[in-house]
Amino acid sequence: MKIEVDAERLAREIDELAAITDAEPPAVTRVVFTEQDLRARAWLKERCSDAGLTIREDAVGNTFIRWEGPRSDLPPVATGSHIDAIPNAGKFDGVVGVLGGLEAIRALRRSGFVPERSIELIQFTAEEPTRFGVGCIGSRLLSGALGPDADDALRASDGESLRTARTRAGFTGELETVRLPHGRYAAFVELHIEQGPILEREGIPIGIVTNIVGPASFFITVEGLGGHAGGVLMPERHDALCGAAELIVKIEALVQGSGSTDTVATVGICEVHPGAINSIPSRVRLGVDLRDTDGKRRDRVLGEIQSAAQEIAQQRKLQISTQMLNADEPAASSPEVLAAIARGCQEEGLQSRRIVARAYHDSSFMALIALMAMIFIPCRKGVSHRPDEYAALEHIVGGVKVLARTLAELSSAH
Ligand SMILES: [Zn+2]
Repeated sequence: MKIEVDAERLAREIDELAAITDAEPPAVTRVVFTEQDLRARAWLKERCSDAGLTIREDAVGNTFIRWEGPRSDLPPVATGSHIDAIPNAGKFDGVVGVLGGLEAIRALRRSGFVPERSIELIQFTAEEPTRFGVGCIGSRLLSGALGPDADDALRASDGESLRTARTRAGFTGELETVRLPHGRYAAFVELHIEQGPILEREGIPIGIVTNIVGPASFFITVEGLGGHAGGVLMPERHDALCGAAELIVKIEALVQGSGSTDTVATVGICEVHPGAINSIPSRVRLGVDLRDTDGKRRDRVLGEIQSAAQEIAQQRKLQISTQMLNADEPAASSPEVLAAIARGCQEEGLQSRRIVARAYHDSSFMALIALMAMIFIPCRKGVSHRPDEYAALEHIVGGVKVLARTLAELSSAH
């Protein structure tokens, strides 16, 4: 079987989709359920209808684009990603998996291949957390990681509920209908840009993702005693920022001591109250992101961070508390899907290496209901979530070919 990708059309489609943006091109801003998001969805559905595929949308706007195979008694194989984009993003994150998935299906058809199982392309709603503060809303609901109470519980920064926002966007019906059972899909494979520097640095065109990290995020609130920067002498102080500073450095040390370079933590938020140059900080709020490929190790480090916080609180006579925002499980790829991707690389003569995914992906949640793996392609300097995000067409085409071969193999009846 020879897989031929229409590179010119794919490049044109990526550009056309990038032109549907709320930012000044080349920047792409496409936040879920905004007018631009709805325009992009309509544009995509038109491309898929043109390709002769059938389309279904669920109550939260996840879109299922189907190439019907003769074996309707067997669960289909799926691919897909997202087309929403954070403010001032680039044009490849997510899009390569959606338009690349569409082109993989078209390429398979052109090759004369006939799948036994149906093949589906899924466009997931709100992979990015921009609007509701939590990402992967579509795939979380679909896999059951998020329950239907999210309809009223999830609120946008302007206070609008998920229910109101989706209804206004035309996605009605009960949210519990979004959930799909385990086994609904035989396998799921997502094509995505790496969003890291490894493949480019090593000159390898395909990354075969073995694990997706499990991120946890939480706030740590440090409370001390405020006062006049001149009036309160040093022995009398309970400076919240000094305690927070000690804790930040301690978090770095604990993570470095985890025993694995796959454990990473970032303190990305530090809010100081009252925030005046001549006032002793009375309260500090730290925002922490902690990730690992090993959920147990991550939770152990999390426990160590909490103990360290209590030690610092005691020594400095401060109150320190932790508020968890989320803790998602890491996902491991299925050996079967990994092997299919590896064979696809071999058949296309493309070098590959195994790699870890360190960002959120819809695949993390699809892993809860189906065998899963991801295909990474290089992106320039590892840059993503920026207007200058760039993936070479040659690499995108390589990824599409490997995806097409993987889908072909997985869609056979065995
Ligand atoms: Zn993405």
